[in-house]
Amino acid sequence: MGDNNSLYLEGKQVVAPPTMLQMWTFRDVHGKYAPGSTDQDTYEVLTRFNEFGFSGSVAVSYDQTYHNYLAEGDLVHSYSTISEISDLKSTRLGEGCFVTELAEYYDANDVLFGEACITYFKYRIPEKKPGKVSKIEPPKRISPVENHDSKHFWQGLRDGKLLIQQCQQCGTLRHPPQPMCEACQSLRWSTIESTGKGSIYSYTVMHYPEIPPFDYPNAIVLVDLDEGVRLVSQLRGSEPENIAIGQRVQAWIEPVQENLSLPIFEVIKA
Ligand code: ZN
Repeated sequence: MGDNNSLYLEGKQVVAPPTMLQMWTFRDVHGKYAPGSTDQDTYEVLTRFNEFGFSGSVAVSYDQTYHNYLAEGDLVHSYSTISEISDLKSTRLGEGCFVTELAEYYDANDVLFGEACITYFKYRIPEKKPGKVSKIEPPKRISPVENHDSKHFWQGLRDGKLLIQQCQQCGTLRHPPQPMCEACQSLRWSTIESTGKGSIYSYTVMHYPEIPPFDYPNAIVLVDLDEGVRLVSQLRGSEPENIAIGQRVQAWIEPVQENLSLPIFEVIKA
């Protein structure tokens, strides 16, 4: 956990720092609790509330008490009890009930070492009154950072050019933009315009999670430009299974949104 407090490390035995009790008894990928734990669905009460129209849910409090430390190798199991359901209350969120769950955590000898009192508010989500429908702007790409060292690159794209920095002292090309030549440490530089031609050096295809505004599957390529530098960008027009390292690609500059143009690659015949 990265908690190096000597309290936990320097006794007779290394002990687990108190943490969210839940973490020790989370359900596994099959939805099962730790062996020895309750086999009932401890969330059933929430489902029941949903069935009665109280579909809103908000966590109100989570009070934890630790009676003993856990040591390495301890096996943990837990039980949950609904200790209280309040009368119907009116709140700013809506009308609903406070549900309090008592979760008890036991070690392998059935000694209670921790407990948590968890309160949720289950409420009826008020129906929205018809009113002005506000237009939702489609999500945009996050703007790149443009600073003294990189502005030329982004401005170049806005002007329809893919620019590569070139050292004015030794002629070495470099990308991504940086203030100093790695070959000769010169701070003097200019740019050349790339043809946008190159070969796929490596690639990855994003399938999930689908984050707007990108299209999915989203193929990202690392391209060896013919001029001799590498550039990361998007590849379009290829099915993921047809993308291959070494394929010849060509970039075109596309204005993707206001103030942002990007080089987009496409596979071409070698
Ligand atoms: Zn140089």
